[in-house]
Amino acid sequence: MDSAIRSYRRKRFALILILIFLIVVFYMKICRTGSPTNPKKEVKFNSSVGNYIPSSDSDNLSFNGKVRRGDNLFTILSSENLDNSLIIEIISKTGEIYDLRKIKAGNNYLINYDADGFQSFRYDIEKNKYLELFRVGSGRVEGKIVVIPYEIRIELIEGSINGSLYETLTNSEKGGGELAEHLATLYEYDIDFNRDIRKGDSFLILLEKRYLNGAFSGYGKIIASEFINRGKKTSVVRFAADPGKNSYYHPDGRAVKKMFLRCPLPFMRLTSRFGYRRHPVTGFSAAHNGIDLGAPRGTTVRATADGRIYQAGYDRIRGRYIVMSHGNKYRTHYYHLAGIKKGIRRGKWVNQGNVIGYVGNTGRSTGPHLHYGLQRSGRYLNPLRLNSPSREPVKKRDRERFNNSSGVIFTLLEIGKSNILNNSLKQFIYRSALEIVGNNI
Ligand SMILES: [Zn+2]
Repeated sequence: MDSAIRSYRRKRFALILILIFLIVVFYMKICRTGSPTNPKKEVKFNSSVGNYIPSSDSDNLSFNGKVRRGDNLFTILSSENLDNSLIIEIISKTGEIYDLRKIKAGNNYLINYDADGFQSFRYDIEKNKYLELFRVGSGRVEGKIVVIPYEIRIELIEGSINGSLYETLTNSEKGGGELAEHLATLYEYDIDFNRDIRKGDSFLILLEKRYLNGAFSGYGKIIASEFINRGKKTSVVRFAADPGKNSYYHPDGRAVKKMFLRCPLPFMRLTSRFGYRRHPVTGFSAAHNGIDLGAPRGTTVRATADGRIYQAGYDRIRGRYIVMSHGNKYRTHYYHLAGIKKGIRRGKWVNQGNVIGYVGNTGRSTGPHLHYGLQRSGRYLNPLRLNSPSREPVKKRDRERFNNSSGVIFTLLEIGKSNILNNSLKQFIYRSALEIVGNNI
């Protein structure tokens, strides 16, 4: 009780201090420089995917697609029926400015046509960077890498759950699906968003948002967050133990990451074909040696912990399967896979979260699903009930800096909730405070 009061007082004291300090600095700053503006450059930004889009000019047509697994620049351009000599020209020009092997599955590309045929090709390298090749004459192509001058703003998002996490955020926020994934990844060690979430759960997220020419265009990193699930609050905060290397911790210094992920499948890919309407996981039983997770065929399967591949093979019951060993005590099992990822074989070291295979329906299985088993010292446990050991907490030498930083950042959440301050003042307070504690972008 005593410590709760102390912590409350400390928090309030920090808040008042920050406010006074920042308001003073803010006025000094606007006196000198006026309000900050960002240089803006006109860049066409297209965010739709996977379709032909006729432009307003009737001769122009765009094709928007995603790079699929196994694709390279040649297969992408060939599927568009481009002239072979043009394809070769595009590939050789691209090779001069970009490493072709870096073209990644899942990234977007866009091909534009006009009345003369191919006009330009664009490939999104990163969120703020793309490769562009464009026709300059008959059969001649030029290319460049374009950096998009996003403006990063820090904002607080407040909400309460109504439906699933995904539904809640897509209904309340622009680009809410992306945000739901960010949040699910951050909390996947602590909250099971497929099973535990309830109406009335609430959350606060302080995060970076990207804007282009004043329009929202995506989410950056989460700085701190509080999620109240069935009355229990779980807070996380970003902290750089070493410069430039951010990790997430709970306010008491425990690492957010644990030895095991709760679920080998990425968030939102679970289907309910096993009879649980809202909870698409069949219960654990010792005889069954694991849990069954319904998911579409091809869904990626992730290693739930760092470890070595112990077996990767095929038999009539397990289908394509992988067994991993994690130290001497633990083993994890992944069955009925459609495929095993290239390079995954006995003895190979794999990090937590790395993709090892794809959901399928091989062996004794009645529909696409993953059978996931977890053994400790030979005994099968319910993976959903495992109290997973945490990873390394904040180091002793960083403890004071961490306490200061997280104290300030959680104060920012309070400042963000206040409706006395306007947005530009909040923006300024966030930035200055994060810079002071060394937690800036
Ligand atoms: Zn099973």
